Amino acid sequence: MLALEFQAPHTLGLVDAPQPEAEDGDVIVDVVLAGICGTDLKITRGEHRLYPAGTVRVPGHEFVGRVREGRADGVGPATGTLVAVAPNISCGHCTSCRRGRANLCLDYESVGLTIDGAFAESVRIPARAVEQGNLIPVPDGLDPAVAVLMEPLAAVYRGLTAIGLVRGESLVILGAGPIGLIAVILARQLGAGSIIVSQTSAGRRQLAADFGATVTIDPRAENLVDRVWEETAEVGADCVLVATPVAELYPESLRLAAVGGRINFFAGLPGGRGEVPIDANLVHYNELFVTGSTANTTDDCEAALAILAADPEVYLPLISHRFALEDSLEAFRVSAAGVALKAVVEP
Ligand SMILES: [Zn+2]
Ligand SMILES: [Zn+2]
Repeated sequence: MLALEFQAPHTLGLVDAPQPEAEDGDVIVDVVLAGICGTDLKITRGEHRLYPAGTVRVPGHEFVGRVREGRADGVGPATGTLVAVAPNISCGHCTSCRRGRANLCLDYESVGLTIDGAFAESVRIPARAVEQGNLIPVPDGLDPAVAVLMEPLAAVYRGLTAIGLVRGESLVILGAGPIGLIAVILARQLGAGSIIVSQTSAGRRQLAADFGATVTIDPRAENLVDRVWEETAEVGADCVLVATPVAELYPESLRLAAVGGRINFFAGLPGGRGEVPIDANLVHYNELFVTGSTANTTDDCEAALAILAADPEVYLPLISHRFALEDSLEAFRVSAAGVALKAVVEP
């Protein structure tokens, strides 16, 4: 079968790979659509910790596909079911798993990260994932091009849940990449009172406005802190989501928040470059609540798929480019160049 392999930093190759084989309760999913994510670009650059030097693997963790053959014991979806796949496979028994934080599992597998993923005609889903409910049936009639957004939306849903955005509150989103824009849509659906987006690119600011941002700011043209305070009646923002890996924005985010404000460090900085100077007194005197969120659980994915199914039309415009698997190198090029908002590959 055709597959797109990561072979070395900055080297992806289309190869004729062996068909994956199901053993002991595994299920083969024939890929319908797979989305390219910032994580895939990080993998491509050789910067992902789960792709250490020497790794040759098929990436792709955001995908929808069809179950080629359901399990004989009836566990998991039946043959032919269209499924969105929750990629993170937890062990189910470590302390993180027992405490309901399966995304922080100490012994996890992840489709497209630790095992071959979805930039291929077919992908093997391990038995453990089938048993843990990672194959989530796509609701009837939901466009696969919307369902493919389940995984990134699940991550954003986890981030906004961590800061507990409440109806009517103000939210600042730093960065209007795919994640920032998904956050704009979700925040609007959650009833945010104002959604203030900071982004340097004019095109992305326009998209943020189109998706429902109430205020957009070019932080190079005006003072971000001053403007956010002005837009929040001089009290600061109730919630702040750091959705772009720019080191200066982490300390800055604390200055945007109101007293008692909640901040989520959604984006991660490149390995070894995570130390940033924080004004601890802002956290102390203003009782700021600083959180992080990473990846997502299968529960988050189920919630995200339900959100997508409830109002698919608002999410569909996020899919900006579609490519055949044969053209997936080009799909990666337009994604890396920032031309594509979200490119999908269709085997
Ligand atoms: Zn992703
Ligand atoms: Zn675990």
